[in-house]
Amino acid sequence: MFFIFGLRSKDKIVGSRVGQCEVCGAVAAQTLVRRTTKFSLFFVPLFPVRPARHFVVCTNCGRSRYAAREELISA
Ligand SMILES: [Zn+2]
Repeated sequence: MFFIFGLRSKDKIVGSRVGQCEVCGAVAAQTLVRRTTKFSLFFVPLFPVRPARHFVVCTNCGRSRYAAREELISA
């Protein structure tokens, strides 16, 4: 008997707004992404293993950075 288990990360877009990118400096849509990581058994996600993390992804250059707390409230 064997088990197939692991961690699965899932990204979900929770909002976007137009702002200036800190990386490329362009004014473009900044997408707020929520990433959750869950423990999975036989490819079925069971429970989260760490708190959800939020990223801001620039649609111009594609770079991502951690979202500040105030950005989560305004999104
Ligand atoms: Zn950018």
